[in-house]
Amino acid sequence: MLTIQKFGGSSLADAEGLCRAAALCIRERQKGRDAAMVVSAMGDTTDELLAMAYSVSSAPSARELDALMSTGECSSAALVAIALEARGQRAISLTGWQSGIFTDAVHGDAQITTLTCARVRAALAHEIVPVISGFQGIDGSGDVTTLGRGGSDTTAVALAAALRAERCDIYTDVPGVFTADPRLVPEARLLEKIDSRDMLRLSYAGAQVLEKRSMELALEKGTEICLRSSSGEGEGTAVRVLGESERPELGGLALRGGTVTLVGRGAPAWLPRLQRRLEGEGIEILDSALSRDQISFELPREKALAGLRMLHALCFER
Ligand code: ASP
Ligand code: MG
Repeated sequence: MLTIQKFGGSSLADAEGLCRAAALCIRERQKGRDAAMVVSAMGDTTDELLAMAYSVSSAPSARELDALMSTGECSSAALVAIALEARGQRAISLTGWQSGIFTDAVHGDAQITTLTCARVRAALAHEIVPVISGFQGIDGSGDVTTLGRGGSDTTAVALAAALRAERCDIYTDVPGVFTADPRLVPEARLLEKIDSRDMLRLSYAGAQVLEKRSMELALEKGTEICLRSSSGEGEGTAVRVLGESERPELGGLALRGGTVTLVGRGAPAWLPRLQRRLEGEGIEILDSALSRDQISFELPREKALAGLRMLHALCFER
């Protein structure tokens, strides 16, 4: 049984975070499972690298930006491997190209085309934990590419599918997926599970938990994800295609700019109720859009947060 464990930048911001990730890998192995890790760059490294590039040029080339940005993930992979070795666990850091992650040549937004993973498989066969740099690959001419911001999630899902992993755990700085962003809606509730299609819609509507392309890939490949806290506490949120009977009527709410979106198989039927509530509270609806399993309202920007909270109270706080 194989678990892919992906760690985001905020979970790897310092030595403590790197060591915690290593400890969580060892904990997973103590459960009798194999583990392969996928890591993002530490903290705000990617932003800092980009700022450096623009400090020496107003128009850095896409190729060199990728060469530069990819170093963030290479560093964190080596550091996590070092932390594992310090705990007596054999480990090997592998870059995207060492892992056989081939992409098209669209620098800054590359798509994975083929995954060979030979060295990843070889390491696993020898009880060595592969620690793979997320967010990067190599194109047909041997140049380093990156997969778009937040792309380490995609690396994790692609590897989970290619290696037929039993679990794909995405560790982050929140305990899981909530009914709305808990930083915006303090009453938001942690979900035990969410339907992958609802999660994809929420990602498009502004939820920042899982990167869009990784959710598309997870749906295409049928990969189940568990989004969980890098503190190691809690079981997190299972993100998978739910059967009709276990799929709740409403999935969650997201906010992007002035647009509030409600997703869930029952969402469209809620339109009149939500409209009445917003208008009753004096929040003007500039536009609304209804599509399969979702409704969106465009509200005046300064009222969007209040609107989100109001709709949350109506939909999820009963
Ligand atoms: N480090 C990259 C970024 O900040 C990739 C990732 O975090 O997934 O976008
Ligand atoms: Mg990052």
